[in-house]
Amino acid sequence: MSDIEAIYGSMVFSDAVMRERLPSDSYKELARTIKEGEPLDLEIANVVAHAMKEWAIEHGATHYTHWFQPLSGITSEKHDSFMEPTGDGRAITKFRGKELIQGEPDASSLPNGGLRATFEARGYTAWDPTSYAFIKDEVLCIPTAFCSYTGEALDKKTPLLRSMSVLSEQANRMLAHFGEDGHRIIATVGAEQEYFLISEADFAKRQDLMLCGRTLFGSSPCKGQELEEHYFGAIRPTVNEFMKELDDELWALGIPAKTKHNEVAPCQHELAPIFTEANRAIDENLLTMEKMKLLASHHGLVCLQHEKPFEGINGSGKHNNWSLSYGNVNLLEPGESPADNLRFLVFLSCVIAAVDDYQELLRMSVASAGNDHRLGANEAPPAIISIFLGDELGKIVDSLIHGLSYQSAEKVSMDLGVDVLPNFLKDNTDRNRTSAFAFTGNKFEFRMPGSQVNLSDANMILNTAVAHALKEFADAMEDKGSGPEFEAAALEHIKTSLTAHERIIFNGNGYGDDWPVEAKRRGLANNRNTADALRCLVNQKSFDLFDEMGVLGEAEIRSRYEVKLDKYTKTLNIEANVMERMVRRNFIPAINAYATKIAKGINIVREAMPDAELAEQQEQLQVILYGLKKTNHAFENLKAVHAQAEGIADDNQAQADFYASTVVPAMESLRAEIDALEPVVDHGYWPVPTYNDILFYV
Ligand code: ADP
Ligand code: MG
Repeated sequence: MSDIEAIYGSMVFSDAVMRERLPSDSYKELARTIKEGEPLDLEIANVVAHAMKEWAIEHGATHYTHWFQPLSGITSEKHDSFMEPTGDGRAITKFRGKELIQGEPDASSLPNGGLRATFEARGYTAWDPTSYAFIKDEVLCIPTAFCSYTGEALDKKTPLLRSMSVLSEQANRMLAHFGEDGHRIIATVGAEQEYFLISEADFAKRQDLMLCGRTLFGSSPCKGQELEEHYFGAIRPTVNEFMKELDDELWALGIPAKTKHNEVAPCQHELAPIFTEANRAIDENLLTMEKMKLLASHHGLVCLQHEKPFEGINGSGKHNNWSLSYGNVNLLEPGESPADNLRFLVFLSCVIAAVDDYQELLRMSVASAGNDHRLGANEAPPAIISIFLGDELGKIVDSLIHGLSYQSAEKVSMDLGVDVLPNFLKDNTDRNRTSAFAFTGNKFEFRMPGSQVNLSDANMILNTAVAHALKEFADAMEDKGSGPEFEAAALEHIKTSLTAHERIIFNGNGYGDDWPVEAKRRGLANNRNTADALRCLVNQKSFDLFDEMGVLGEAEIRSRYEVKLDKYTKTLNIEANVMERMVRRNFIPAINAYATKIAKGINIVREAMPDAELAEQQEQLQVILYGLKKTNHAFENLKAVHAQAEGIADDNQAQADFYASTVVPAMESLRAEIDALEPVVDHGYWPVPTYNDILFYV
């Protein structure tokens, strides 16, 4: 049993550690810098670096690294030791302020979407003091932002931090009308992480799992998730051991891992932490994912974080719970007093406006080859963004839009405050799991992100879009002060805004067949695959938003678009390669061997017994040979369209479009042929473990 209090945060250079270890002047200066978001003075940095090094060495560290998130979304690290030779054959340890604040990784092999070619060859990393340093595997990790020398963001964290600061600024402008400004307002995130655990032995036998993270073949298991016995079921001992070790490691890193349980699909699990500031929550989620993969190996397991490892079985998502707060005040908490209610409605209406106006960007933020298998597959929301408000809040919004237009603003404000809003907390239990973006009592839950995604983009876009809506609101309230005049004007603005964005609100079944039809009628976007979804990133509306809010410049946006397109086509290229290799080298030989065995059997029996009844065997052979013929046909077709796709060299969007429209269906056809043969071929001949083998181990 673990001693949580002793373990928790033991590997983090947290606020408590800083307060304890830094001279009080330096601590105050650092705290002020963090609060104001200013660059750190070198003298203070030297003091902090020294204290950090001493602490790290006491905790077993020998190296440090600037830990950052390049555009691939996966964290990067290069380890430098604290060691400094003294020239007389000995060495001391050193860590200077400038090494803490800034690093210069030779990052030329990291994806940059052409950005650095246009500006500077090298980039630098800069400490993000709002995220604590921590020790991982004897390395002091310093969370950093990664930029080019001319200041372009080369990573996921920098735009996220920019979006958080503009969000705080615009939220403050609105809060000023309530007499509550002057706070650092933060976006909070709680990321629920789903994953699969399978046995290492099975994993090692499947190239598709090893190279692509998902099975490219596999017929449905005899038993799926229909018995609904796995969700919240008792956790098996091996898995439990894994989860315990994971909790311990995460707690040591100060990651508030709170809830763990079995998910719907066999072998699927979930971990939910307690929410925190968005940038920290994302760092923590990335660390969690890394630890999951690493620790699984201690238990003979492999952790699959792909969005859809097994066809026909639920894939894995990562629900992004999001709110806005300062201190202990959650701005999406409906509250009990009339003023709190109005404040809540201000923020609610801004979120609704933001999600409607920038629905395509939000959908874009979760687009990936893997997530394309999940969105709209009856397990995750479709590729259409809509907002679920629940009955209670839905009715209030409805009455604001429709019913109360002829009442005086003052009266409306009274009614709203006293009678209607305090009931809302009921919404806590009012859940609709088919919605892309659901209000869940005092926060929104964005359910589209896939399990593998780095949540920075989704939150950066959400923050920026909400900041934009707040800015429009605040601009309109500029001269309204803070009394009844403001309240009336604000309520009017809320009504106008909700009316304009009513189409995004949908309380029905998001998995239903009629929803895409209805969504189309409403003019909502439905970008079904990644190739379609990415386009909106480089349209004028996107440039204007990010430019106006100072979050990303056009060159930075274009580079992100290129990286995403590139990742999409490369992923599909790899999958097609692996498929072709497995078909040629694993499946066709195995199926042929089995066909030969049947043929030999027929001959042997016939020799022994010339008038034996062999129609069954011959028919079986026929089925297999016919399947092989169709496999060959689908195989040749995939090779042809795959080569055609790879031949499109000068237009990345056209290449991605062709992969989506032609290569993906060709892959599905080939898979269907192999999957159809799996149940008729002797299990002993089948070259890879099947879904039956993989998903139900004990
Ligand atoms: P469910 O599985 O029903 O969606 P959970 O309770 O498992 O809900 O997860 C809810 C997640 O939302 C947790 O990670 C929690 O910390 C997070 N959360 C709660 N309040 C907020 C908030 N104000 N801002 C962001 N996330 C929040
Ligand atoms: Mg959830």
